[in-house]
Amino acid sequence: MTIDQAVFLVGGTGSRLNELTAAKAKPALEVGGRPFLDYLLDEASRHGIRRALLLCGYRAHDLIRAYDGCTLRGMRIEALVEPSPAGTAGALALAADRLDDQFFLVNGDSLFDFNWLALCPSPDMPWTGLVRMALAGGIAGTRYGRVGLEGRQVRSFVASGASDQPINAGVYLMRKTILPRIGALPCSLERDVLPALAADGLIEGSVVEAPFIDIGIPEDFVRAQSLVPSILKRPAAFLDRDGVLNEDTGYVHRIDQVRWVEGAREAVRWLNDAGYFVFICTNQAGIARGYYSENHVNDLHDWMNVELRKVGAHIDDVEFCPYHPEGVVERYRRISDLRKPGPGMLKKLMAQWPVDLAGSFMIGDRDSDVEAAAAAGIPGHLFPGGNLLEFVRKISPQRRRTADCG
Ligand SMILES: [Mg+2]
Repeated sequence: MTIDQAVFLVGGTGSRLNELTAAKAKPALEVGGRPFLDYLLDEASRHGIRRALLLCGYRAHDLIRAYDGCTLRGMRIEALVEPSPAGTAGALALAADRLDDQFFLVNGDSLFDFNWLALCPSPDMPWTGLVRMALAGGIAGTRYGRVGLEGRQVRSFVASGASDQPINAGVYLMRKTILPRIGALPCSLERDVLPALAADGLIEGSVVEAPFIDIGIPEDFVRAQSLVPSILKRPAAFLDRDGVLNEDTGYVHRIDQVRWVEGAREAVRWLNDAGYFVFICTNQAGIARGYYSENHVNDLHDWMNVELRKVGAHIDDVEFCPYHPEGVVERYRRISDLRKPGPGMLKKLMAQWPVDLAGSFMIGDRDSDVEAAAAAGIPGHLFPGGNLLEFVRKISPQRRRTADCG
């Protein structure tokens, strides 16, 4: 099952932030120097989402002007406006002809730092209901409603209060067949639709202990200014490709040549779950040598991400170096700092993403990988072969977590 669409609920009035939202839609408010929605869209695009649909209402023009028709790293963004306030479920019903059969639904005023693809069905976790929801565990305080679970089944939604039950983290995997369950408008997802689905055993929950913040009240909006950028500044695992993710059989550039290293896909999943960025940095001198083109390499990496999704894993970004000083293709024949042992590819990724160097590392199967890491200022680990997941678990520093996100 591929899930290519993320739908964002961005139509609320934000009445609890009154002076601020009088002048701007809540998801467009600046948090840590950027509109809050930018962070959520970044999250969607790095998880491989191709299309984002913004369900706008209050001050829709703020969001349309900033986002409608834009593209973010290959993800197309479109906005839809409800003619009158329809509620969260109502907004979804009005978007019926724009929805995929399965999609992520994301609250536009909260951020949960977890692996979205962990909600996707897999052979050992098939999906029979209508909704899978992310639940944040370990959240203290009385502000949020709580979710009652029996195993993975969501059974009830409980009024706000202190409890060790998890809270609704505002990210759902949903089937379009939820639409007939939405009643007369306005209709609220949280109040009207989800409790009835839970009673019918159609919602599963996945509890993750990870940072969560909701910008909906003034006190948390203030906290979010520093907390959101700090949550999203993650350490990164820079992975060489050939000899680390796939067996190095020489100039691999076609799908039929890929033999995954044992535990490689599971290692990427483990890093995703632990909150690392996962990047590939690979020398591709075969392009300079005229064996294959940049398109071959891009297509192969797209396919690798499709395969990784089957285990709930993804690569956040890829850099490859097509240059070689002895290339036969003239435009690729040159010395380049991008080519390992140069640190250029790592540095490029560090400039484009909010990477926390503390805790970041590189894994490669050659000395040139380790040298590139050193030149970029991070540890490099030589992978001797065997099971990559076991190796990653041994060398990955304990992932730092931002405390007190309740
Ligand atoms: Mg290699």
